[in-house]
Amino acid sequence: MGLQHLGVGESPRKRNAVKCPYCGHNDSRVIDSRETETKGGGSVRRRRECIACKQRYTTYERLEHVGLSVVKKTGQREDYDREKLRRGVATACHRLPIPADAVDNLVDDVESELFKQGVSEISSQAIGEFVMSRLRKLDDIAYLRFASVYLSFTSLRELQEAIERVSHD
Ligand SMILES: [Zn+2]
Repeated sequence: MGLQHLGVGESPRKRNAVKCPYCGHNDSRVIDSRETETKGGGSVRRRRECIACKQRYTTYERLEHVGLSVVKKTGQREDYDREKLRRGVATACHRLPIPADAVDNLVDDVESELFKQGVSEISSQAIGEFVMSRLRKLDDIAYLRFASVYLSFTSLRELQEAIERVSHD
């Protein structure tokens, strides 16, 4: 696969060093590492355990490797960050009766959708829509929470419209 050089503790670019999504510590132990095939190519999925807080999390190294850029509404670009996306989804699902795996599975689905696009840049809006279409099927409340942050609702009317979209499906 040509990805073997992305060994433990190595990062193609230093600023992409893996940080614990829970405490921000940047040293982790790899528990499990496997290559996964998605429609657009391969990626390396790693389960990591934070050295500091012992929380476990998953990283995918292919997207960082190919350098997918996310174009924000402001026109600014930033590197695609799976953990950031995952945090957004996990926050929306907080304390809802959603299986623990569902968040990672949803993020997997979204990433495979991103791979399929075969582009080097994607708008944050497009990513948000991939997430929202899946969250809607998963849980209405999670969907509304995510949408309210993502679409930055500025009025009750916008929120009501989103609620109507959910209840009409
Ligand atoms: Zn940690």
